Amino acid sequence: MNDARPHPGTLYIVPTPIGNLEDITLRALRVLKEVHLIAAEDTRHSRNLLNHFGIATPLISYYREKEAERGEELLARLAEGENIALISDAGTPGISDPGAVVVREARRRGLPVVPLPGACAATTAMSAAGIADDGFLFIGFLPAKGNRRRQKLATLVNSPFPLVFYEAPHRLEDFLADLLAVLGDRHALWARELTKTFEELHEDSLSGLLDKSRLGKNRGEFVIVVHPGGEEEVKPETVEELIVWYRDNSELSLKDVSRKLAADLGLSRSQVYQKALQLWR
Ligand code: SAM
Repeated sequence: MNDARPHPGTLYIVPTPIGNLEDITLRALRVLKEVHLIAAEDTRHSRNLLNHFGIATPLISYYREKEAERGEELLARLAEGENIALISDAGTPGISDPGAVVVREARRRGLPVVPLPGACAATTAMSAAGIADDGFLFIGFLPAKGNRRRQKLATLVNSPFPLVFYEAPHRLEDFLADLLAVLGDRHALWARELTKTFEELHEDSLSGLLDKSRLGKNRGEFVIVVHPGGEEEVKPETVEELIVWYRDNSELSLKDVSRKLAADLGLSRSQVYQKALQLWR
């Protein structure tokens, strides 16, 4: 960006990593270097990230409680020709993070808004869910209070789409209990600490996940993907049933299913593979 500033400036929406610092795009790094100002949810947190990449662009704080007020300041500076990058603590701004207010208002005022693609916990988890049908419903955080949360969940019971939730670790057990109570014992994926050292993808019924959460090892960040109702409420029991279930409900190859089931059930991989060969078509 040269000194003859275009008028007005552009608001860039810039995703940052959700754990692994390698998950930032070359374009994001360039934009963060070139803009006049970076609006960040937590400036101290973001300064560490920017230092890591040798970026010295000035920071201004932009957090949920000050969205409207700080938004006005950003809009004024955009109108004066400053280019501004909006970032959050992790992932994509505006996705269960501040951003929507200033973005909406910038577009309403005809100020250029440029969203960059990048890290997002919801799409990262969904990509690992292995659900073949198109579409999913991103819910993000439900209300923290049990009765409001259950009311909201009740509106989702008949959704034909997989549901993608964010939840804080200290609320996970109560949250899973509510999912089970309202949605029934559906199949679900627990995606913990995505992109980080202790990343964990664990698929089970909701009752299985609830049991797991009761073991008390709920540290870190979670995405929970719940399969639509009415398909897998009857849990397959035998290896043959499991093979057929994965054949019909996942994108996994015959080899991958054999490997997974052998590991999950502690069986010989070649034995499971032979059974799968007979059942696969
Ligand atoms: N804007 C972010 C995004 O694009 O994903 C989401 C921010 S929201 C405040 C934080 C929540 O996202 C966490 O409580 C957790 O549910 C989910 N999350 C963020 N990073 C994650 C990770 N590395 N693994 C699993 N979930 C994560």
